Amino acid sequence: MSNTKAYAAASPTSPLASTTITRRDPTEHDVQIDILFCGICHSDVHSVRDEWSDFMSTTYPIVPGHEIVGRVTEVGSAVTQYKPGDLVGVGCMVDSDGICPHCKAGLEQFCQNVIFTYNSPDKHKTAPVTYGGYSDSVVVDERFVLRVPTNLELAGVAPLLCAGITTYSPMRHHGVREGQKVGVIGLGGLGHMGVKFAHAFGAHTVVFTTSPDKTEDALRLGADEVVVSRNADEMQKHAGSFDFILDTVSAKHDINVYLNLLRLDGNITLVGAPEKPLDVAAFSLLMGRRSLSGSMIGGISETQEMLDFCGEHNITADVEVIPIQKVNEAYDRLLKADVKYRFVIDMASLKSE
Ligand code: NAP
Ligand code: ZN
Repeated sequence: MSNTKAYAAASPTSPLASTTITRRDPTEHDVQIDILFCGICHSDVHSVRDEWSDFMSTTYPIVPGHEIVGRVTEVGSAVTQYKPGDLVGVGCMVDSDGICPHCKAGLEQFCQNVIFTYNSPDKHKTAPVTYGGYSDSVVVDERFVLRVPTNLELAGVAPLLCAGITTYSPMRHHGVREGQKVGVIGLGGLGHMGVKFAHAFGAHTVVFTTSPDKTEDALRLGADEVVVSRNADEMQKHAGSFDFILDTVSAKHDINVYLNLLRLDGNITLVGAPEKPLDVAAFSLLMGRRSLSGSMIGGISETQEMLDFCGEHNITADVEVIPIQKVNEAYDRLLKADVKYRFVIDMASLKSE
């Protein structure tokens, strides 16, 4: 076992602070990775503050971080796909049972025994729970390690490991394509990736935002139109016109106003995970045979497909790189929707702790 520097929160109300954790020595199937960058996902904030306690409560201390890119430093004897020096990524999952129908279908995220990158039971018993990427290094089974395209800027690749796959997967699943009108609600970390993918898939892309000052950026990121969602008249102009809308909002909001914008058989997919339930009026769904569904990250092979797609199309996240010492400030700014458009921690800053 080895000691690794990390940032952890000791309780739902404590700030993240410097600490030391243990990582296991690589077993025969493991890859040891020196972490270079780690994105800050809003899920990190929900988890640190235990906002999802009804669904999955947080075990403290928590070391968040599931948008990891780094360099391989060591591999176990049975590892075939990676070697020291390779640039790799790790997303929201580090293990699953590998034998259930979901795993066999490449949908490890829905495996009943999925192990998330942080706050899941650690089957290796190195610690009570898994610890995430706000740390110097991590040890992961090679089945959950992704190959990172080498032509892309590394800090902008980190957010692809969660924000990227979480928006790519539902759009692929629902067949987003040219000729469709597609909406993205919320221009944050997930939302701005959703805009890039909807645009890359050829859809007419509309951003719904509560922040009018993000309009210019939204157009630059690939949106064809921007709607300030608090303006009821602007919203009304789009009634009954959308094929698909991706909802990335992190807080409670009125979903009915968006359901009313769907055309016949249109779908809204929730990827945002607000702490409090959303109210759905039956008529919002009955009218126009609309549907509301959800989606969670994406499987490992689809994550690799998404990374390769980004490599081919030169897609990365727009990032604000910060030292880890600014992580608590970044959390506060996320709550104010003040991020353009993903905070990414430069892990070199942890070495000075
Ligand atoms: P983020 O960067 O904070 O972006 C959220 C955006 O939602 C904000 O930028 C803001 O956009 C909008 N927003 C925030 N509060 C709002 C409110 N009260 N009313 C209306 N709009 C509001 O967060 P993120 O990292 O993209 O994550 C978004 C959500 O997805 C979080 O709940 C996260 O936990 C969840 N998530 C889910 C998955 C999954 O697998 N399903 C994966 C990752 C994250 P505007 O300023 O444009 O309005
Ligand atoms: Zn995430």
